Amino acid sequence: MKNKHRYKRQVTLPEIQTKGQEKLNNASVLCIGAGGLGCPALLYLAAAGIGRIGIVDFDTVDETNLQRQIIFTTNNIGQNKAIAAQNHLTALNPGIKIEAYAEELTNKNAINLFNKYDIIIDGTDNFAAKFLINDAAVKTGKPFIYGSILGFDGQLSVFATAGGPCYRCLFPEAPKTHIPNCAEAGVIGAVAGIVGTTQAMEAIKLIVGHESFRPLSGKLWTIDMHTMQNRILTLPQNPNCPVCTGTKEEITLHYSSQICAYIPEITPENAKNTTAAVIIDVREIEEWQTGNIKNAQHIALSKLMQGHAPDLPRDCEIILYCQRGIRSKQAAQILKEQGYENIKNMTGGY
Ligand SMILES: [Zn+2]
Repeated sequence: MKNKHRYKRQVTLPEIQTKGQEKLNNASVLCIGAGGLGCPALLYLAAAGIGRIGIVDFDTVDETNLQRQIIFTTNNIGQNKAIAAQNHLTALNPGIKIEAYAEELTNKNAINLFNKYDIIIDGTDNFAAKFLINDAAVKTGKPFIYGSILGFDGQLSVFATAGGPCYRCLFPEAPKTHIPNCAEAGVIGAVAGIVGTTQAMEAIKLIVGHESFRPLSGKLWTIDMHTMQNRILTLPQNPNCPVCTGTKEEITLHYSSQICAYIPEITPENAKNTTAAVIIDVREIEEWQTGNIKNAQHIALSKLMQGHAPDLPRDCEIILYCQRGIRSKQAAQILKEQGYENIKNMTGGY
């Protein structure tokens, strides 16, 4: 084993020893998303000497990420996350291989990417991505370590192990209602840190495989960080699960453009000063009537959700706003799906 000295503290553990460290050095892990969960997971996996680590992220580092995405520094703002993380992790541990994929995970590339690694870490924050990860993980037979945070709540499980349940055993389909993500609901960095770090721990347990380890396969670990009350729930395989009941060949990858596209933000100040833009108020009619931004048009989010396709100019910028900037973000996703490219969300709302 090369660089034995670096891993001295963990090799000392009877559960790891040289044998366990060799397993870590020979293992590969693919992390989907270098965000609040991915950053701490990646740091601990690289530091522990996982031989090959892949990072998939098409997004760029934004200043609001730095509060929790601890791989990045202020100097990384504007850089692609996968590449910035690769540089940082290589500096942390030059003895391992870090592979950056500056692209979005889709049903086109998921199988190929998953086939190259032993374990998948889910560092995403939306249902569509988690379904895609799940279905590709089941199809390729790779365990995936699921993590999720909302407010002060964290959840973690290991899905798609041989004989264990998958994510769809728990959630067969995406909920119809809109579930806010971190950008909308808010998050403390340390909450993401605890869940992401625990995901790294589960990966290490799966790789080393000591008899005393009980990875969270078939279990859902939940923690409320208001009180640190935590529970481990048993998750049986669902006999009606759409993925687990099919033979592997019949599984079709669920992918929809619901995977949240990146929506750039614009401040109310800058929105007021743009001349070549269409401004749209997506609040409901009663809210619109109580006051609105001068020159704005009204198209309620509820109409867009019912399938209304407005005829807007495609050659100029479209700025969306609502009361607080949450509904307008959802509307922006819908318009993106309708093929509008140049969309901005007004920060903070009306
Ligand atoms: Zn299942």
